[in-house]
Amino acid sequence: MDLRAHLLALISPYACGDQLAPEVVLEDATTEMGLRYRLRVAGQRLWVDIALLSAGQRYAARSQRFGFGYRNEGGRNPIDSKLGERVCQHVAKIVQANEQDVLTHIAERASGEQLSQSRRVRQVEVGSLLELAGTTEIPFYTVSPYMGCTIGCRFCYAQSNLAAVRQLVQLPEAPWGSYVDVRTNAAAVLAAELESKDPLPIKFCPIVSDPYQAIEARELVTQACLRAIGECSQVWPTMLLTRSALILRDLSLIASLAQRAGPQSVFVGVSLPTIDDSVRARFEPRAASVAERLEILKRFREAGVSTGAIVQPLLPGSVEHMVDLLADHVDSVSIDVLRGVEGAAAEFADPKFRMAADSAWQMERALALRDKLVARGIDVWRGELPKMMQVHIPGGR
Ligand code: SF4
Repeated sequence: MDLRAHLLALISPYACGDQLAPEVVLEDATTEMGLRYRLRVAGQRLWVDIALLSAGQRYAARSQRFGFGYRNEGGRNPIDSKLGERVCQHVAKIVQANEQDVLTHIAERASGEQLSQSRRVRQVEVGSLLELAGTTEIPFYTVSPYMGCTIGCRFCYAQSNLAAVRQLVQLPEAPWGSYVDVRTNAAAVLAAELESKDPLPIKFCPIVSDPYQAIEARELVTQACLRAIGECSQVWPTMLLTRSALILRDLSLIASLAQRAGPQSVFVGVSLPTIDDSVRARFEPRAASVAERLEILKRFREAGVSTGAIVQPLLPGSVEHMVDLLADHVDSVSIDVLRGVEGAAAEFADPKFRMAADSAWQMERALALRDKLVARGIDVWRGELPKMMQVHIPGGR
C-alpha cells in the first residue's frame, strides 16, 4: 500500500507542481514523519499535517474526516498564523471532496492485506524514497528503508507521528517498538532517484526507524540502499545515524563510500543520550549498550569515516565522563533537548529520572556539555546535519 499515492489521491485533481491557490504550490506529499503535504507558500516552505480526526486533538482546519495543522521549516522562517490557517482550510476543502472514495479504497485494500500479512512486520512497496528535508537554504534528503522501529526507545517521538499513519491504513493500535514496515523495493527505487536528481546530502534517518534495527540483519534493505549509493554515477554525501551495533556489519561498505566521496562526505553517528549504561537500559532497552556505541565510533573512525554523537535528549549520567570518552572517538557532537516524554512517562516519573523531564534541567545540561566539548576542541552542532555535510543553496531550493 503506497501511502504517498493515497495522500496524492486525497488532494486530486492536483498533482505535485500544481498551484492550489494564488502563491500556494503543492511540492510533494510525504510520509516520512507522519502524513504531510509539502507546499511552497509565498516563497516559503510549509508542511501541512493531515490525520484522521480524533477526540481531544486541536486542528487549524478540518474536513469531515481529517484534521489539518501546519508547520514551517523546523521553527525557522516563521509563517503568519492566519496565512497558515487559510492554507489548511484550502487543503481541507480539496481533501473533503475526495476523502470518502479514498477511505473506502483504503478499507478494501486493508482487509485484503490483513488476510495475507502479519500486522507487525509488513512487506510494503514505495513509489519514492528520497524525501526532501531541511530548509530551502540547507536542504537534504532523508531515506528510510523501514517505517517503524523495533528498538522502541520509550521517548521516541516518531511514535505519535506513525500512529496517524497506522490509523489511516486501518491497522490496529500497537505499542511503539512492536511493528515495522519493510520497504522491499527501496534500493531499486533509490537507485533510479539517485540517477535522476542533483546530489544533496542523504540522511539515513533514525527519526521514524533505525536503519540498523534487528530486521535489517535478515532483510538487508539498508545495505542494498548503500550499495545503490556506491554504484550511482554521481557522488552523494551520506550520513547514517543509529542506535544499533549492526552497522558494524557494513563497515567496509561504508568505508568504501568514504574513500570514493571523501572523508568529509560520509558521516556515521550514534545517538548517545547518556554515558551511564543502566540509564540507557531503562530508556532504550533494545538498543546497543553505551560500550557498543563507543566501539562503533572507534571502528569507523579507524576506517577513515567521520564520526559523531547525537546527544538528544539528555539523560542522567556523568557529563565529564561522556566528554572524556567522546573526545577520543568523534569529530563532532550534536546536542538537543527533550521534545516531550512520549512513551517514557513512567520512566520520567521515577524519582531517579524525574529531573530530566524538566526543560530547565535539559537546557542547563546541554550548555554544560557544550562548553566542556568545546573546551576539548570538539565541534558542536545543532540541527539536522553536521557542518561538514551542509550544502548551502544561495536563494534556497
Ligand atoms: S532507535 Fe530511533 S527511531 Fe528507533 S525507537 Fe529509538 S529513537 Fe525511535
